[in-house]
Amino acid sequence: MKLDVDVLRYLTKEDFRVLTAVEMGMRNHEIVPAELVERIAALKHGGTYKVMKNLLKHKLLHHDASKYDGFRLTYLGYDFLAIKTLVNRGVFSAVGRQLGVGKESDIFEVATEDGTVMAMKLHRLGRTSFRAVKSKRDYLKHRSSFNWLYLSRLAALREFSFMKALEEHGFPVPNAVDCNRHCVIMSLVPGYPLVQVKQLENPETVFNTIIGLVVRLAEHGLIHCDFNEFNIMIDDDEKVTMIDFPQMVSVSHRNAQMYFDRDVECVFKFFSKRFNMSFHECTADIDGTAVDTDDSGRPSFTSIAKDTGFLDKELSASGFTRKDQEEIAKFIEGGIKKDANSDDEDTEDDEHISVLNEANTMGVDSLHVADQHDEQVEPEGNVRTCEAGPSSEPENEDGSNEEGDNETVNNDNDAELEKRLNKVRRRAVTAARGGRKTFASRNTYKDKGGKSSNSSKIQRQLSSW
Ligand code: ADP
Ligand code: MG
Repeated sequence: MKLDVDVLRYLTKEDFRVLTAVEMGMRNHEIVPAELVERIAALKHGGTYKVMKNLLKHKLLHHDASKYDGFRLTYLGYDFLAIKTLVNRGVFSAVGRQLGVGKESDIFEVATEDGTVMAMKLHRLGRTSFRAVKSKRDYLKHRSSFNWLYLSRLAALREFSFMKALEEHGFPVPNAVDCNRHCVIMSLVPGYPLVQVKQLENPETVFNTIIGLVVRLAEHGLIHCDFNEFNIMIDDDEKVTMIDFPQMVSVSHRNAQMYFDRDVECVFKFFSKRFNMSFHECTADIDGTAVDTDDSGRPSFTSIAKDTGFLDKELSASGFTRKDQEEIAKFIEGGIKKDANSDDEDTEDDEHISVLNEANTMGVDSLHVADQHDEQVEPEGNVRTCEAGPSSEPENEDGSNEEGDNETVNNDNDAELEKRLNKVRRRAVTAARGGRKTFASRNTYKDKGGKSSNSSKIQRQLSSW
């Protein structure tokens, strides 16, 4: 997927305000009615429609009239929101070339002012099948509505949390730098994915290290679940780094043994094929630790002493709520129960939108307020609890610090105001659902003449925002 950061440089504060408004609307709406966007963005002189037109032109928003007339963020729009937030936080200041295209992600180089290059992973769930095709089909079948952006955000937060935890436990993983929305910033791993390596000086050492990692993960209560030559990086000194963690499961998962054996099998198969290794003589002494193996030299899952609480502990330490965990676990594993939430939208709306409108009323940047409020309902991929990024907080338009303002907003329990705002919101939604078209017809905003960017345009300084 293209990431034309050129466009980013020309987006105004109002553009971002409207993008943010759509994002907020999407917490409770698959498609956000234009009137709701306008209410949330609260731009002066009805400027929202003009801004939306511009955002549609640049494909940051998508118009959808399939169920009722409204808008949703595209992945590109979501990318820009995440990038802007991270740039504002001072995490990086430039986006560089694309490093890789994963199954469900795009990886780019990013650089700081002082020239440090890091990797930015943008999760893109829904682009291709997620691990098991069947699981996804089950997932979608039982959902009345779903939101890929939301799931991508959960995947990113999950990956970031694991990366941090694994790093702290001495695993060879990239350094987890920061995370926002569906975007994870990590250190750049030197070297190549193992799949690109044709020759190794010490294949047996590398093999033992890799199998040792699978075993050590299990000891820490984790199974990678996608442990293969695409997710193992190797440098010129044959040092191994593992990547790609959002799908990891606990050793207490009902299919743990199967996932563990599958990870092991992937490694055995690859080394046997690529490096002609045979495993009869493989000792049980993997990575310096004695491990029980079966007759073929494969480590035995049942004989590993496992810390089963690790996964839950680490995830909750990162601000991952139980609801988040359940949601993403359903998606990953396909253990779907019937989802009967299609009609409770209004109750939830009232709670969420009143918060957003209240924020606007208070003159606070709604994006920042939502981040805080979301800790109870839906954390904004904004993992301050496992803070690794710079400590400088972005400032609001009026120059005030968001924490202080939030306190004011949090403490403001003006029931009357809330009631009034809810009423306004309900009217807007009803009007939009009643088929009243509030925006020009589909054809007017189709970006017919839009030119696609080429990759050479990607290298851009973003610090000028
Ligand atoms: P996916 O989940 O979509 O499979 P991955 O995390 O496996 O995504 O990343 C896809 C590719 O991007 C990897 O195979 C690798 O080539 C590259 N990549 C990912 N993370 C890094 C990193 N930290 N440093 C360098 N390259 C990376
Ligand atoms: Mg991968």
